[in-house]
Amino acid sequence: MSATKANPHLSIVIPLYNEENNLEELYEELVAVLKTMGKSYEIVFIDDGSRDKSFEIVRKLYNHDKRITGLSLSRNFGHQVALVAGMEYASGDVVVMMDADFQHPPELITLLYQKYSEGFDIVNTRRVETEGIRIFKRLTSWLYYKLINFLSDMKIEASSSDFRLMNRRSVDAFLRFQERNRFNRGLITWMGFKQEIVEYKAPTRLRGRSKYTLRKMMSLGLDGITSFSSKPLRISFYTGLFIFLAGIAYAVFAIINHFRGMNIPGWTSTILIILLVGGFQLLSLGIIGEYIARIYSESKSRPIYFLKDKTGNENEN
Ligand code: UDP
Ligand code: MG
Repeated sequence: MSATKANPHLSIVIPLYNEENNLEELYEELVAVLKTMGKSYEIVFIDDGSRDKSFEIVRKLYNHDKRITGLSLSRNFGHQVALVAGMEYASGDVVVMMDADFQHPPELITLLYQKYSEGFDIVNTRRVETEGIRIFKRLTSWLYYKLINFLSDMKIEASSSDFRLMNRRSVDAFLRFQERNRFNRGLITWMGFKQEIVEYKAPTRLRGRSKYTLRKMMSLGLDGITSFSSKPLRISFYTGLFIFLAGIAYAVFAIINHFRGMNIPGWTSTILIILLVGGFQLLSLGIIGEYIARIYSESKSRPIYFLKDKTGNENEN
């Protein structure tokens, strides 16, 4: 209470969603690593609407280590938004963001910091091989990065993760983004500055299951594509044009055949055309819909998140 809090040099930002079983051990490991670095630090945990005891554990940790701050969001806003909340709070000259599940090994922070000392503004990480990650996730992730790099004008590194170090200048720049549908990896690539990539080997999740359900992955994936590219809209235009022209050609062919008296029993071709054209129309509408949904959600300019609670609030008098 009496401590006048000087800004720490390092801020570690960790979003949590139902991570009660990882928290204590993560804290121990982090502190061990941070101790060897000999810099002042804070650890900011953002409880993203967990339904387990995550925030209570953060409180407990806070009660014996005031270098911890726990922020509790009013509901589950998603990993990307939780990261923003943590970065807005973090006051260090250097901010490191990482996951709570040990897939981002705390030891690596030393290496990230070393790169920062060499003069990089942003130090990203790339996982080279994740032990025991399901083939399905690895394959979809690989395909996704291929797709996003094909569609967008920006190159986003495959297998990049939200484990990175940013200096104050780049954090302040990052916080100027007002977007709601976020794909932070893309935004950070887009920002520029002096960036570096460090490779690491990710272990399997220590405990608990991945919080990225297929639905969350799809939604993050679509945000990544729609916020960096309008090519899908153009692709649907060109495909539409192609099908339209092919349709005209086929119509001419059908009319000529009609006058030459070669009546084809037309069931197959008719149904094919209906399916093709109908299917394509729905696809295009869907693509347009995805963009409109995002324009809509951005245009409402709603706050990105709300805080419900914060450590230190409970015993203030
Ligand atoms: N997370 C979060 N909100 C969510 C989903 C995940 O804050 O809605 C956190 C989670 O607790 C973890 C990090 O984001 O610290 C990454 O999530 P996870 O490990 O489940 O993702 P994966 O490694 O499977 O991509
Ligand atoms: Mg994980």
